[in-house]
Amino acid sequence: MRRAGLPLRGGGRRAPPGRAEREHGHDRRGGRDSSVAARPTPGEGTQTPTAPDRTPEPSASSTAPASPYASPAPSAPRTTAIPSQSAGSTAATPSQPSSPAPATGVLRHTASGGRTVALTFDDGPGPATGQVLDLLAQYGAKATFCEIGDNAKARPAAVQRILAEGHRLCDHTVDHPQPMHTRPHEQQVAEIADAKSMIENAAGNSPTITWWRAPGGDFTAENERIGADLGMKSLGWTVDPRDWSRPGVQAIVSNVQQNLRPGGVVLMHDGGGDRSQTVAALKQLLPWLVAQGYAFDFPQS
Ligand SMILES: [Zn+2]
Repeated sequence: MRRAGLPLRGGGRRAPPGRAEREHGHDRRGGRDSSVAARPTPGEGTQTPTAPDRTPEPSASSTAPASPYASPAPSAPRTTAIPSQSAGSTAATPSQPSSPAPATGVLRHTASGGRTVALTFDDGPGPATGQVLDLLAQYGAKATFCEIGDNAKARPAAVQRILAEGHRLCDHTVDHPQPMHTRPHEQQVAEIADAKSMIENAAGNSPTITWWRAPGGDFTAENERIGADLGMKSLGWTVDPRDWSRPGVQAIVSNVQQNLRPGGVVLMHDGGGDRSQTVAALKQLLPWLVAQGYAFDFPQS
């Protein structure tokens, strides 16, 4: 997550060269290393409300070892309760169009329900994407990658590999503006629409992108509508181990193990800086999920 305008951004918006790295959004805010990540910098505190993926997270707060972010998750009434435990009930979509307020349209569960989990990776593609893909392949796991347009454009091969290996793509805006909701309407439209095009172009085969995720989970009725008009549903999550902040491999692992419930959506990152902790955690989580009887699924679409 790129926290534009943040003091952390030192140097202010850099020029294009830093583009591919900008995505750090998450770490950027977290600082340069785990130590920093543990305690939000003054700057972060200030924008905690819009802060990255922590805010909206429902379950996140529960575990969170050091959860300065422990957000009381204004979380939309968790559509969670997977209606039908029966797998394959793709039809039953609790939080669907029926809901009047777009704000309640944030998806937070898998398509099939039952003992399934949807792994989602944000802010890539980046240098660690290949390692994440290797691990997923090793366990026969499928995941959803919420990509930043600039990164997709910079690493088309990674985008293509993601699709070739059976994973799916999600629009995570052009350059991860935060906070998203304060941007002018036209800018929000451009961030979402252009990213979709950039990801599709990088993929090369016109994949169908059915979800978009606001930077930091900063969804509003306004931007949810923008996404909906572009044919995409707002994708949230139920478990946020804050891997972007590099809290330590074990912290990431236990956060997921303690907060995941059947049908949940896990938020992790394959972009945004040094992802070695994420990769190491994934190495433990994948076999754990398999041992727990979880099947890998995609978010509801
Ligand atoms: Zn992000």
